[in-house]
Amino acid sequence: MKYPFLQLKDSNSQYSTEIKAAINRVVDSGWYLNGTENQQFEEELRKSCGAAYAIGVSNGLDALRLILRAYIELGKINEGDDIIVPANTYIATILAITDNRLNPILVEPDEATFNLNIDYIEKAITHRTKAILVVHLYGTPCWSKKLKEIAKKHNLIIIEDNAQAIGAKANCVGINSESYITGALGNVAAFSFYPTKNIGALGDAGAITTSDRQIAETVRALANYGSDRRYHNIYRGYNCRMDELQAAILRIKLKNLHEETQRRITIAETYNRHIYNQNILKPIIFSDIRQVWHQYVIRAKNRQSFIDFLAKNQVGYDIHYAVPPHLQPCYNQTLKGNYPLTEILANEVVSLPIANLSTSDAIEISQIINSF
Ligand SMILES: *Cc1c(COP(=O)(O)O)cnc(C)c1O
Repeated sequence: MKYPFLQLKDSNSQYSTEIKAAINRVVDSGWYLNGTENQQFEEELRKSCGAAYAIGVSNGLDALRLILRAYIELGKINEGDDIIVPANTYIATILAITDNRLNPILVEPDEATFNLNIDYIEKAITHRTKAILVVHLYGTPCWSKKLKEIAKKHNLIIIEDNAQAIGAKANCVGINSESYITGALGNVAAFSFYPTKNIGALGDAGAITTSDRQIAETVRALANYGSDRRYHNIYRGYNCRMDELQAAILRIKLKNLHEETQRRITIAETYNRHIYNQNILKPIIFSDIRQVWHQYVIRAKNRQSFIDFLAKNQVGYDIHYAVPPHLQPCYNQTLKGNYPLTEILANEVVSLPIANLSTSDAIEISQIINSF
């Protein structure tokens, strides 16, 4: 494959010397959990988005599960309550809701952003609705003044699934902050550092950010067996901690987040400038926000012949996501409703290579696409 979709080795080889030094530091420290690497990573992550607190955890799904469980422990959400969530998301978002015995209310996407359509939220609100779980899909913030107004009017919590959008910037500030950066927009946010994400660990890792002290303390306790201090368990908690090794590695990646994001933006802009094919719908680049391009996703009506053409021309691709959550066998038709737009997207989307390629690679890929 001349243009692979993603080679994780390339994402890490550029930091190899620093990563190996960090690993040695942790090995030699004799301290492998709940230590200074975590503390420092949390401080650096918190600052990078403008939240008051950050808590390192085991992965992105656990971050979402812990957030919802914390609201349940605090009595702000109760079993069986409704959580509004995009129908067009990765299944982990929905799994966190159903795992807490909450009821996902799926909302169709906005075709311009692929994100939950904020105009459809009010229709989906019931007397059991307690929160809106927005997903900044592909790195485009799902955020607006209207969203904040709806949340205030109906007294709803806003949870961000920020797994794909670290460092993205909205066009208005957070609900309780002066920050424009994802992770500090809603009441609380979940991050994933799965190896393919914009900032990837060498294994699993995740984080939670918030400016709500109660939520911060509750998720931290829940992630550590439910204990607020040693051998004192206030909740029936979990073990969802982040390793010191991963924290040490992630600190290096976080320090380089701006450059990583800039590289992705350059590639996305190059594609948008060079792809012109009537059969391909390009993503929109919005001038008033910062999209961080976790994926660069185009739409092709005749997708099968398009991806066959890409493969024949040595262009790697992926599909995010081919089967939406409501059609997954594990939900066995329990997520009721019709989501035609979500299904159309699932049938048309194609993700192009976005990480670790040069501008000239992106131009060559664009030319190949133009000849389809
Ligand atoms: C990756 C991802 C998750 C889950 O994160 P993990 O670290 O893999 O558990 C959740 N939501 C979205 C939108 C994701 O892309």
